[in-house]
Amino acid sequence: MNLSPFEIVYLAGFAAGSAARVWYARPHRRGRIVRSRQTGLDTALLGVAGVALYVPLVCVFSPSLDVAKYPAPAWVGWAGAVVFAAAVWLLWWSHADLGQNWSARLEIHDSHKLVTDGVYAHIRHPMYAAHWLWAVAQVLLIHNWIAGPALLVGFLPLYLARVRREEAMLADQFGEAYRAYRTRTGRIIPRW
Ligand code: SAH
Repeated sequence: MNLSPFEIVYLAGFAAGSAARVWYARPHRRGRIVRSRQTGLDTALLGVAGVALYVPLVCVFSPSLDVAKYPAPAWVGWAGAVVFAAAVWLLWWSHADLGQNWSARLEIHDSHKLVTDGVYAHIRHPMYAAHWLWAVAQVLLIHNWIAGPALLVGFLPLYLARVRREEAMLADQFGEAYRAYRTRTGRIIPRW
C-alpha cells in the first residue's frame, strides 16, 4: 500500500479525533433521561453522517474509489493538515468542557448542567463547528471526488435538522439562563 503524505496526515487526525469520542463516550453515570427530542430521522441522519466520516478510509485502504481520484497541488493538502489540526483540537476542547453532558442524541438527563464556560462561552456548538472543520479538512486532504466531499454533504442534513431543535430543547429545560446565553454567543462562529 502506497499512502500519500496527506493520507497519512488524514489517518493521524482521524485517530486523534476518534480518540476524543472514545475517551469521552466511555461508560459513565449520566442518569435518567428527563427530556428527549431524538426522532427516527435524527438517528437516520446520524447514521448518514457517520458513514460519510468513514468513506475516506475505504478510499485510503482499497482501490474501489480510485476512479474518482484527482491530482491536487501540495499546498491544498498542507492547508488541509492545518484545518484538520484545528478540528481535532476543537473537538477535544469541546468534549472536555461539555463533559458528562455530552450525548450523541438530543436528550437531557437528570444531572444535566447547562455549560456556558470554556469554549462554550464563545460559541454554542463547538462540536458541530469541529465537524464542519473536519469536513473541510477531508476535502483538502482526500483528493477524491466521492470520499473528499462526503462529510460536507453527509453532515449538512444532520446539522440543519438538529441545531434549532437542540436549542429549543435546551431553552425548554434551562429557561431564561439558556435564552440569555443564546443572545450573547454565536452558533458556530464567535460573536464579537
Ligand atoms: N451542540 C453542542 C453539543 C453537541 S452533543 C456542540 O456542538 O458542542 C449534543 C448534546 O449536548 C445534546 O443532547 C444537548 O443536551 C447537549 N448540550 C448542547 N449544548 C449544551 C450546553 N451548553 N450545556 C449542556 N448540554 C448541552
